[in-house]
Amino acid sequence: MNLPAPEELCRRAEEALIRCGAEITDAGGPLVARTPITGTELRTVTASSADDVDRAITAAHDAFLEWRSVPAPQRGAVVRRLGQLLTEHKTDLAELVTLEAGKIPSEAQGEVQEMIDICEFAVGLSRQLYGRTMASERPGHRLMETWHPLGVVGVISAFNFPVAVWSWNTAVALVCGDTVVWKPSDRTPLTAIACDALLARAARDVGAPAGIHALVQGAGDIGERLVDDARVALVSATGSVRMGRAVGPRVAARFGRCLLELGGNNAAVVAPSADLDLAVRGIVFSAAGTAGQRCTSLRRLIVHSSVADELVQRISSAYGQLKVGNPFDDGVLVGPLVNRSAFEAMQTALDKARADGGTVVCGGERSGGGDSAYYVSPALVRMPAQTSVVQEETFAPILYVLTYDDYDQAIALHNEVPQGLSSSIFTTDQREAERFLAADGSDCGIANVNIGTSGAEIGGAFGGEKETGGGRESGSDAWKAYMRRATNTVNYSDRLPLAQGVEFT
Ligand code: NAD
Repeated sequence: MNLPAPEELCRRAEEALIRCGAEITDAGGPLVARTPITGTELRTVTASSADDVDRAITAAHDAFLEWRSVPAPQRGAVVRRLGQLLTEHKTDLAELVTLEAGKIPSEAQGEVQEMIDICEFAVGLSRQLYGRTMASERPGHRLMETWHPLGVVGVISAFNFPVAVWSWNTAVALVCGDTVVWKPSDRTPLTAIACDALLARAARDVGAPAGIHALVQGAGDIGERLVDDARVALVSATGSVRMGRAVGPRVAARFGRCLLELGGNNAAVVAPSADLDLAVRGIVFSAAGTAGQRCTSLRRLIVHSSVADELVQRISSAYGQLKVGNPFDDGVLVGPLVNRSAFEAMQTALDKARADGGTVVCGGERSGGGDSAYYVSPALVRMPAQTSVVQEETFAPILYVLTYDDYDQAIALHNEVPQGLSSSIFTTDQREAERFLAADGSDCGIANVNIGTSGAEIGGAFGGEKETGGGRESGSDAWKAYMRRATNTVNYSDRLPLAQGVEFT
């Protein structure tokens, strides 16, 4: 495998940061930005101290007191400008995403496109933060609800969507009148610096307060400062179930609000009537794309026994055509795993699967990359049962194949894992498709028909059930999580009737 020289990657990162207007202070650490492409250092970044986080929250809280009274359509102006800057710097930001997260350029650009799309959505939303008017039971009274800004939103994000998740939260929070303090993954500090610089410029350009956004950098301990600070009204945290288990109860203990977007263990059911050409394409993209490092990556296939052999053979042959390597190289579809521990977790999972009676049909082995980069061929594993390893999320390209004979059994297998993010069914049988989407079908937050589990659009609400955390972000009415609702009763009569007919005279 031909990998680029580490110095070339450092230069590319530096140039992309400069084009995004990022201020680079060579403070010498202690946070090290690395690239999974070669496993080498890109540069050092200053990590935030506990005092820095405190100052960031104070500034964001002060800015909130002003920002909440700016009319929402005017707040939209900063997000509109951010969308323009993201469009201008799409390639620069995508370059940083490839460098830090290892995504192929097309997927990295797709991630930045999601940012642009959510900015457009949020600008429209800034004129649509609707409350309802309800029929009052009392004469001469009006009953209605209004939505108000919530406060400071603490955004904690994962390495694998280093920019999109921030924008889903931030674009919506800003039009809702909130201010944001962002703690990105410590594995992707440079993309965060670039986003922060673009938003700071957008704020300057439209005259919005600088304090509407702050970036703090570091590991989980820095995230914990946001979790524990009562001035942070909403903690929106994206990452592993382990992280959610730590964050959720702490925020709840101070009666703060939490929006959790945690791990998935996504499955596709393939029915006997499925269009297998279409299914193979959908399955391969969802399972092997982003080297299996999406929260929505396809990890389990539940295939009718009558089509299982043919499907496995076709996926295995499609996997054989996938080019694994330097994501910047033409034709490469599968880039590196993020680091050594991701590779080790994959090997441990494959060993467990074998011990449970599974057969590795293809893949799983390391394919070049030198000492410190981890490239693997996506693995396809036939399993005799949904054993404990299949019920866990291993953040790597492993696709477990299970078979079923009876549709109820397929649904039961599908729902029999602790996570509940994304799901799909490949079928041309309308009854099966509708049942999959019905109350007794898939128990996930996302349920698709005849497409894979990954690659959601921003217009829908994104998130999942059970251990995935229950949060919803992005489109539809997900904005409601970023505002507080007030119910108002207005008496415009000259009498004072009490509700429920109560007499008090
Ligand atoms: P991670 O849990 O290791 O880290 C996520 C973020 O949480 C990081 O910023 C980290 O510093 C922070 N963090 C960790 N412990 C914390 C604590 N105790 N308090 C506060 N902050 C803490 O996850 P990762 O390896 O970066 O990302 C991969 C995981 O994220 C996978 O499980 C994936 O499924 C999940 N993910 C979920 C979604 C979703 O929308 N549901 C999206 C992307 C990724």
